[in-house]
Amino acid sequence: MTHSHWHATLDQEPLPGHELPPRAEVVVIGGGILGAMTTYWLTRAGVAPLVLEQGGPATGASGNNGGLCITGTPEPYPAAVQRLGRATAQEVWGLTLRGLAMLRSVVEQEGIACDLRPDGHLELAANPAQLAALTQAAGELQADGFQSSMVDRTAICTLLGLSPGDEVLGARYNEAAARLHSARLVHGLFAVTARRGARFCWQTPVTRLDISASPRQVVVTTPHGVVTASAVVVALNAWSSDLLPELVGIVRPVRGQALATAPVAPSLNLAFGVDLTPTGEYGQQTVDGAIVFGGCRALAPQRDVDIRERVPTPLVQDALDAALGRIFPSLAGLPIARRWAGLMGFTPDYLPVAGSVERLPGVWFAGGFCGHGMPFAGPFGRLLAEAALAGTLPPELEPYRLQRPTLRQG
Ligand SMILES: Cc1cc2nc3c(=O)[nH]c(=O)nc-3n(C[C@H](O)[C@H](O)[C@H](O)COP(=O)(O)OP(=O)(O)OC[C@H]3O[C@@H](n4cnc5c(N)ncnc54)[C@H](O)[C@@H]3O)c2cc1C
Repeated sequence: MTHSHWHATLDQEPLPGHELPPRAEVVVIGGGILGAMTTYWLTRAGVAPLVLEQGGPATGASGNNGGLCITGTPEPYPAAVQRLGRATAQEVWGLTLRGLAMLRSVVEQEGIACDLRPDGHLELAANPAQLAALTQAAGELQADGFQSSMVDRTAICTLLGLSPGDEVLGARYNEAAARLHSARLVHGLFAVTARRGARFCWQTPVTRLDISASPRQVVVTTPHGVVTASAVVVALNAWSSDLLPELVGIVRPVRGQALATAPVAPSLNLAFGVDLTPTGEYGQQTVDGAIVFGGCRALAPQRDVDIRERVPTPLVQDALDAALGRIFPSLAGLPIARRWAGLMGFTPDYLPVAGSVERLPGVWFAGGFCGHGMPFAGPFGRLLAEAALAGTLPPELEPYRLQRPTLRQG
């Protein structure tokens, strides 16, 4: 696995690590943004959980992503409305909007230095059909009470501070979106929780979950020993089905790839997305000047679905080089400082899953963020923390339950 821009520029004191204790009130499995947010909300509720992670903090998708926080699922809003029904789509978009606000308030309140810039997002249209689709999406979002507007080329150049290639005809402007340094966010959240008593076992893969009969406890097995807990939160995203076979075929691992250029003078004032390939491209300029650009998965064999390797491939990386130069000709040929890959978790209906499985009472899970986990993580972490402490699934997680019909129709 190669280092992402985020890990290469993390620049933080290492987090503490602990010996595996025999018992913990709550165990959180997974050290990504969802595990970090769950741990954060547990400590806010006065509980100091034990975090078990097979690698280090943000080893998974959370430290290897694009650092964009955009409302909604990867599907355009009208497609999500059609698939999930308007009420559910509205609820999902609303939750992610609250997720962005939550991210801002937690980062501000806790003083987490993660370069969070709430400066919006432009979804660029690269042909007339895309322009029509984005216009429809903006209209439906507005009608359902969400900010969304269309902007023309002149406005794009002003907002971005850079001219896109001639094929760009317009864009949907989402003012609520943000960009950030994802590994610093995860690291910062864990650092805050460490001060409130959370403990961490890094390099500790969980190999199985069982239930002991009397007293009823969750038994968490690792190569370093066993820990029992009253409640466990599984925050494994792409790896979810390793511990919960019920999620095989429901949360599928999908490899995503990105690159970062060498630093350049400030040239991109906000994050952007564009569909040059069917699975889409996205990017941002970081505070230190690198252009982070990802996507082009559609060019990989089988779109890199059900892939576990986290190595970048020449096919996708060459396509990323070409796509960056195509969408912003003035950025063509910039030296590339880093190339990386990470694992996302995809569901058949592009909506995350959350809940519990009957055979493992006291175990709660969420995953399948379909490449859009950052805005879900705050609210999901809070709701999973609530579930772990109350022993029941909060109603806000109902749309994400495994029993929903759209999961089987996908
Ligand atoms: C290239 C790429 C670009 C992306 N861009 C964006 C973006 O711009 N915006 C956005 O919102 N989302 C993006 N995503 C998706 C986003 O990163 C994820 O949705 C989000 O990070 C998921 O967080 P998580 O905590 O659920 O999972 P992860 O961050 O993957 O964390 C799961 C953790 O579980 C650990 N683990 C696995 N198995 C075990 C085990 N048995 N025992 C213990 N630990 C285990 C893993 O090591 C990992 O650290 C991108 C993803 C990729 C790969």
